[in-house]
Parts: sequence; C-alpha cells; structure tokens
Amino acid sequence: MTSSAVPSSAASPVDPATVEEIFRRFEAANPEPKGELEYTNPFTLLVAVALSAQATDVGVNKATRALFAVADTPEKMAALGEERLRDYIKTIGLYRNKAKNVIALSRMLVEQYHSTVPRTREELEKLPGVGRKTANVVLNIAFGQPTIAVDTHLFRVSNRIPLAIGATPLAVELGLERIVPARYARHAHHWLILHGRYVCKARKPECPRCLINDLCRYEPKTA
Ligand code: SF4
Repeated sequence: MTSSAVPSSAASPVDPATVEEIFRRFEAANPEPKGELEYTNPFTLLVAVALSAQATDVGVNKATRALFAVADTPEKMAALGEERLRDYIKTIGLYRNKAKNVIALSRMLVEQYHSTVPRTREELEKLPGVGRKTANVVLNIAFGQPTIAVDTHLFRVSNRIPLAIGATPLAVELGLERIVPARYARHAHHWLILHGRYVCKARKPECPRCLINDLCRYEPKTA
C-alpha cells in the first residue's frame, strides 16, 4: 500500500446518498461480478488465493490448471508433497514459501477439519499462510458472506473517491463495512477491485471513461 493513495486529512468521505448511487451504478453495469482466479471448490479457491499474493491472477491460473487436475482436495495435495507442488507453481513469485504453506494447511485441514475448509475467519486465519485478506476472499466467494477483502486496488480506489479513508487495509475494510449498504455488501469488494484494476489504475486512472466520474472527488482527475 502506498501512502500516496491516502488523501490528506482534510478529505472527508462521500455522503451516504452518494455511496448508494456509486454502488447502484456498479451493480447496473455488472450485476454479478466475479473474481478472476480459477477454482473448482472451496479448497482450490483457498489455495489459489494463497498463491496469489504478490502475483497476478493470470499467472496463478496458468499454474493451477495443471495442479488442480491432480490435487483438488486436501488429501491429494498433502500426498503430492512439497517438492512436486513446487514444480507446479515455480512460475509464481515466492513459490517456495507458498508451497510450504499449502502443504501445511492441507495437512491441517485433513487432521483437524475433516478435510473441509472452515467457514469462520478465526479458523481460516489459523491455517498456515492464511491472513485476513485470504480469509475474507474465501468467506465471500465460497460461502457467500458479505466480507470485504482489501487488496492494493480496493485500498487505492476507496481512498481516492473517497468511500472509506484509511492508512491501512484493515481501516479501509472496517470503514467500508460501516458505510456499504447491506444489499451491495456481497459484491462490493469485487466491484471495487475490478474498478481499480481496469479503470482507476494506480498511475493513470481513466477518469474520462469512469462511470462514477461525477461523484468521485479525487484530484487531480485525468482529463
Ligand atoms: S473518477 Fe478517476 S479517480 Fe475517481 S474513481 Fe473514477 S477513475 Fe478513479
């Protein structure tokens, strides 16, 4: 996260009516937003998210297509072993550490959770290599909970508009939980992440084609 994404303390978040209008437009443009990581069940989603730290979704998908064909359950992943797992994911950044964590979390799921992915944040965060963001993604996508996973894109977009202002991902997450209307909570993080990835880009946001251009207070907007 860069501090430059955080507006000055003089900035204040947009008002509730504007928040509602922003999400109304996101929903109208993309009623069923989807993440871009490929998975086949809650376990493969958990692994894909764990592998995606500091890597692109496209790069992770390239590696996991072959991996999930041979190991789509905790038992199969544990049986595959760390060394062979490394071969599947060696194109992904930090792959050695990620391989270690994925094998350890697979064993823990087998031994302590009957080979199922737990449905609470507390349990998910006990798994090796699983932090708050990964837990939030799994809770939202696999189990339909209205969690908000703050990645670098969402962090930037929220601070720019601004929706929730915060110097840390957790501050932004908690701020958004307070202001996002309940009916939009399930998809809020998808809309904001996709908006940041494809429109409100880090170096040069594409403000002229932005569907909330008239509501956003970020200065300077691009012409
Ligand atoms: S107007 Fe520009 S800065 Fe504001 S959300 Fe849209 S792309 Fe981002």
